[in-house]
Formats: sequence, C-alpha cells, structure tokens
Amino acid sequence: MELAPATILVVEDEPITRAFLVDNLTADGFELLAAESAAEAENLMESAYPDLAILDLGLPDRDGLDLIRRVRTSGREAGRIDPDLPLLVLSGRATDLHRLRGFDRGCDDYVTKPFSYHELRARVAALLRRSRVRPGAGRRRIGPLELDPVSRRVWLYGDEVTLSNKEYALLCALAADPIRVFTREELLRGVWGFRALGATRTLDSHAFRLRRKLNHKGDRFVVNVWGVGYRLLDGAVS
Ligand code: CA
Repeated sequence: MELAPATILVVEDEPITRAFLVDNLTADGFELLAAESAAEAENLMESAYPDLAILDLGLPDRDGLDLIRRVRTSGREAGRIDPDLPLLVLSGRATDLHRLRGFDRGCDDYVTKPFSYHELRARVAALLRRSRVRPGAGRRRIGPLELDPVSRRVWLYGDEVTLSNKEYALLCALAADPIRVFTREELLRGVWGFRALGATRTLDSHAFRLRRKLNHKGDRFVVNVWGVGYRLLDGAVS
C-alpha cells in the first residue's frame, strides 16, 4: 500500500534552526508544519494531525517536557491529540539526566544539539516506520469521532458505529475538512462518482442516516447547510 508522505511538525523557537529543519525535511519529501511555541504546537497537533513531532525543549511559553506530558495524557476517545504521536526531542540539554527526563515523560527518541541532519533524518525515518505499521496508525480523530481508513471502521466516544460503504465514504469526504461546507455536487462526485438528476435525493438519504447514526449523544455531526450542501461539524468541537 502506498502511504501518503508523512507530515512532520517542527516545534522550535529558534528561527534559523526551524527554517533549516523545515527546508531540509521538505526537500526530503516530508510535509512540514512548524510551530514556535508550545501553544502553537498544541493547536497544530489538534487540527492538522501530524505523523511525528520534532520538539525543542526550551520554548518561550512552556517547557517542551510539559508538551510531551500533554500529548501522552491526551484522552483517546474525547481528545483531539493522538496520545501515541511519535515525539523526537531535539534539545541542547545534553546530559544523561536531561535525556532520562525526556524519556521519562514519554519521548520516543532524543537527539542533542548540535546535531547531524543525516542522523536526525535517519531517526525520524525509523520512528515513522515503526509507528506507521502499528495498529491504529493513520487513524483520524475529530473530537469524539475516530476513523480507521485501513479497516474502514468508525468509533464515536469509543463505541463502534456500523456504517454502510457509502455512509463511510460520505463521512470520509466530509472529514477531509470537518468545518468546510461541501456542495452537493462535490459530494456526489466524490462519493458516487457521477452527476445525475435526482441523485441529490440519494445523497440526502445517506446524509440523513449518517447523521442519525452519529447522533447518540446529541452531537451535531453532518450538518445540512440549506441550499448548499453539508459539513461534518457544527462549528469546532470542544
Ligand atoms: Ca529553544
């Protein structure tokens, strides 16, 4: 199976190092996200689903060790951050005690500055290789909703929801951008692959069933935007 390029989040407040990492990892074929503070990193982890994060520890707003703890204690069902997100620390704190603290908090690897880019890239590749074959890798989490593209299974608050193939495809199409309104035409083309008169009724009935199946705790998923189409979420999830 061909995997999409991995998305790497670089969390680094020092602009030269940040730009160096972003430029080189992009040149090596990764998708890059960059944050210069722990708060920014947390937002990106919640909204952009990176596959791995490279973390500096001396950050302007919070210590990187706190960010590691935040990730590792994120609730699997309700949280939006993947608690198993691979974390590689890249820090100037170079003593054994510093490294031990990093691993105690839950980092997966620890590289000290000054660093060799080639070694860093090799360690990133090794972490991704391990994480992407683990069960549950590639799962998509949107608030209380979790989608597994490999098994095509869906959970809501940890309970499995049984969907038909087309309901699942419609959910995936909407989940690609949970707050964007997708037009009926886009969804028909994306899910059914055709445009035909009367087909909007097919879409509407699938959307209705999907909404009903995802509504058992009063959440508003699959929102009908009158005259336009559908979006997955009614605003942001808390
Ligand atoms: Ca720093």
